[in-house]
Amino acid sequence: MVVIGGGFAGLSAVRELAVADVEVTLVDRHPYNTFQPLLYQVATGALNPGDVTYALRAFISRYRNATFVRASVTSVDPQAQLVHTDESGPLPYDDLVVACGVATNYFDIPGAAEHSISIYTRAGAIAARDRVLSALEKVSLRRTDTPAPVVVVVGGGATGVEMAGALAELRNEAIPLAYPEIQVGEVQIILAEMGEHVLGPFHPSLRRYAAGALRRRGVDLRLGTSLQAVNADSVVVRGPSGESQTISCVATIWATGVSAAPVVRDWNLPTGPGGRIPVGADLRVVGCPQIFAVGDVAATEHPLPQLAQPAIQSGKHAGVQIRRLLAGAPSQAFHYKDKGIMATIGRSAAVVQLPFGLRMRGLPAWLVWLALHILTLVGNRNRLATMINLSVRYFTWPRSLNIVVGDPVDTPLR
Ligand SMILES: Cc1cc2nc3c(=O)[nH]c(=O)nc-3n(C[C@H](O)[C@H](O)[C@H](O)COP(=O)(O)OP(=O)(O)OC[C@H]3O[C@@H](n4cnc5c(N)ncnc54)[C@H](O)[C@@H]3O)c2cc1C
Repeated sequence: MVVIGGGFAGLSAVRELAVADVEVTLVDRHPYNTFQPLLYQVATGALNPGDVTYALRAFISRYRNATFVRASVTSVDPQAQLVHTDESGPLPYDDLVVACGVATNYFDIPGAAEHSISIYTRAGAIAARDRVLSALEKVSLRRTDTPAPVVVVVGGGATGVEMAGALAELRNEAIPLAYPEIQVGEVQIILAEMGEHVLGPFHPSLRRYAAGALRRRGVDLRLGTSLQAVNADSVVVRGPSGESQTISCVATIWATGVSAAPVVRDWNLPTGPGGRIPVGADLRVVGCPQIFAVGDVAATEHPLPQLAQPAIQSGKHAGVQIRRLLAGAPSQAFHYKDKGIMATIGRSAAVVQLPFGLRMRGLPAWLVWLALHILTLVGNRNRLATMINLSVRYFTWPRSLNIVVGDPVDTPLR
């Protein structure tokens, strides 16, 4: 068996397959699993990159019949049942699980791919952190040629709201202590959302709460505002009444839009909406009975949210179905169990929407968010480190300041 991708869906599939009498090879372009929901905490200096990443070799070492290959998949040959990569020789499979997630979509906005920082990867989150903290260092020198510390966050979904909220807390609580040379009011956090509200999939009352919580933290929330272009030191936006404005900024953080990675089109598999791989009811790829596609990359008959739970549940389903098929049983249809959605704006402020119309906001929602995110992390060490680091951020600021060090390093942005 080969599983492409060590994210939520891929690890879930490996867990099910590794208990069967089969050999499993997990292949990922990175040697680690990334817990994307907390990347924005890395981008704002609260967590170390290692707190939200977990070595895939450590994961694989739990299973006797599983191995790991670090390589990028370049193509799949469904006839010969081979996976080709850039590093290893061809990987043969009897059954294949494609769980390679999605990539940032810049919607062809001029300059967006070149000049904005996507926080969808570990490298992107580190780059965002280094850019913002370095800009603050420059501003603290009070030179006349220093650009105003304006950060533009693009997209009012959960990622953009969480990023803007965390940046606002960094500004409000850390700057007075760490950068006494800078007035808090000098630092501007703009959240640009082209729709009329933030957190589209949430109930209107929760959207209003989130917008209010952002504004109370001093985020300049611009609804009905679309991005026209991104430059190295500015963005061009169009506001609700159609007027264009150029905003100088030290960083443009991309927190909106995903589609299948362009490379998937070269994998000899069918592709559907957003470049995703169309699957049938049991999650097998249309026309390829030996291949399952799960998680974000799969285009199911009834679209699923691009979240951790559908990825975890679909990965597990694929693993179970392969076991059933090996035992001569027919495959079963996948049914997603909705466990709700949540987003946090900052300390004591979050929104939780559960099935059957149950809703929470404020401190209780935030405590649920905190507990769930820590529990879902892979690895006990990561859970402990995240618990300690988030406790420092949320319970000791501004008395103690413990920002993870940020300094520009030569990393790719995505
Ligand atoms: C910033 C951010 C915040 C989020 N916050 C939340 C949240 O709060 N709650 C929530 O439920 N969901 C959240 N999500 C969504 C959630 O993280 C995804 O839905 C989930 O990670 C999808 O899992 P996956 O296994 O399909 O893909 P991924 O987790 O993306 O894993 C894909 C894996 O495939 C590997 N891969 C990709 N291409 C190749 C290749 N060519 N060769 C080899 N390996 C490859 C990648 O390295 C990666 O390890 C967030 C996403 C982002 C980006």
